[in-house]
Amino acid sequence: MGQKFQPSGLVPRGFIVENTIFATDRVTVHVRSSAEECACPACGTGSRRVQSRYWRHAADLPFGGRRVVLLVSVRRFWCDAVLCGRQIFAERFADGMLAPRARRTERLDHIVHHLGLALGGRPGASFSERLMAPVSNDTLLRVVRRRAKAPTDTLFVIGIDDFAWRRNQRYGTIVCDLERRRPVTLLPDREQATSETWLKHHPSIAIVARDRGGGYGEAIARALPGATQVADRWHLMENASSAFLDAVRKYMRQIRSIVGATTINPALLTAAERIQYEGYLRREETNSSILALSKSGVPIKQIVRRTGHSRKLVRQIIRGERTDIFRSRESSLEAYLPWLDGEWESGARNASALWRNLRTRGFGGCLGVVAEWAARHRRAEKADAASLARVPSARTIARLMTVGRDHLSKAETVTIAAIEAGAPALVEAREIIADFHAMIRKKDGIEFRSWLERAGQSLVASFASGVKRDEAAVRAAIASHWSNGQTEGQITKLKLVKRQMYGRGKIDLLQARLLGAA
Ligand SMILES: [Zn+2]
Repeated sequence: MGQKFQPSGLVPRGFIVENTIFATDRVTVHVRSSAEECACPACGTGSRRVQSRYWRHAADLPFGGRRVVLLVSVRRFWCDAVLCGRQIFAERFADGMLAPRARRTERLDHIVHHLGLALGGRPGASFSERLMAPVSNDTLLRVVRRRAKAPTDTLFVIGIDDFAWRRNQRYGTIVCDLERRRPVTLLPDREQATSETWLKHHPSIAIVARDRGGGYGEAIARALPGATQVADRWHLMENASSAFLDAVRKYMRQIRSIVGATTINPALLTAAERIQYEGYLRREETNSSILALSKSGVPIKQIVRRTGHSRKLVRQIIRGERTDIFRSRESSLEAYLPWLDGEWESGARNASALWRNLRTRGFGGCLGVVAEWAARHRRAEKADAASLARVPSARTIARLMTVGRDHLSKAETVTIAAIEAGAPALVEAREIIADFHAMIRKKDGIEFRSWLERAGQSLVASFASGVKRDEAAVRAAIASHWSNGQTEGQITKLKLVKRQMYGRGKIDLLQARLLGAA
């Protein structure tokens, strides 16, 4: 059932409307409290004895597209308590009405606060004007500051990380409550002493997720020696990947010569090679389909029946005996290649002469084979300078080496296969990094020790030793489900808030908005 309209229903509960004056842009409402008595703020004794009255102005929620100003009749009371030092006191209103000395009703102040949280100073101010509840830029920020209250929950699991006040210039520290999924505080810098002091004041913290590097690890160890530190998984993955990239970078000289010697541009392939190349792709396809069948538990007999390949071949593939990436291109020439290369280097470049010479050494093939070999060598030499420039960047190679065969183009496949054949140490490094990623993804640290040993001997040894120095935290990252990923998310939010503040963000204000928005 609807209620009959009462003017007092429009003003905060507890006020009685005595008179209303409508103007074109504003409504002035005369109100007084409905309470008959008021407690003395000094002694708490209630009084009904009015000494005098005065007017207070307070802005309230807009009405019908007009600003609303409450003209509040405030009473002064006598305090009659014998022992109270106060003789006269001004009327106080109940919670949710109008705070002492406030220029806005509580409910308007609440809206202003949220405007400030959501939009910041200047945009909030211009929006408040449209809402017909105008407040200045400074007022908005003051309200946000005044209403900011730091969370007082007991902290148990936190994440800590740095954020940039200004890109690459000044950094602050953010602390998040990972259990309640919200930011707790901002610290003005990322100095070890600063975070250490803060952490010392929060001895209830038992688990801290943090980035590797930076001084946080040490600060935590000093302030909360009993706390478990959890290295950030995302950064661990990232560090591992960049360790592999570094290994590739260090190998680039070898890679250039490997790739330069392998004429991988399909345009440069001879007809015979192209056929071999197709054969290589076919073999790869057969290998992977047979391996897939075998992996999914199909017995050899069935694989033979399904694929039509011989039992012998299927067995070979399953045992991993057919991993030949390149079948030698010049099968009939193979035995003579060392001699041929020597001749070539010493300047003998006439294919017919080479062929004649080869025949005296027992070569049974035709001139065409040798002519093609020579043509390719010539092209390779010519293409060398150009192909040097065409060798993909270390970053690209690192990516190609890790994305998996199915995602590579033909040319990429050949390049990578050549690199893998020529640089087994890189392949090993890749496997080691892949194993590390797998440990973190599967949260399985059983192999951690043996991984450390293996990695310590590899191209990514320096990454391994970094991991070893931080072993406890890395193990915790594998075992624990807490992660600093959440903190990263809060930093994203913080950046957004910071941008809205047009760089005039003071830390308390930034914190107030961040915590208020959470
Ligand atoms: Zn009193």
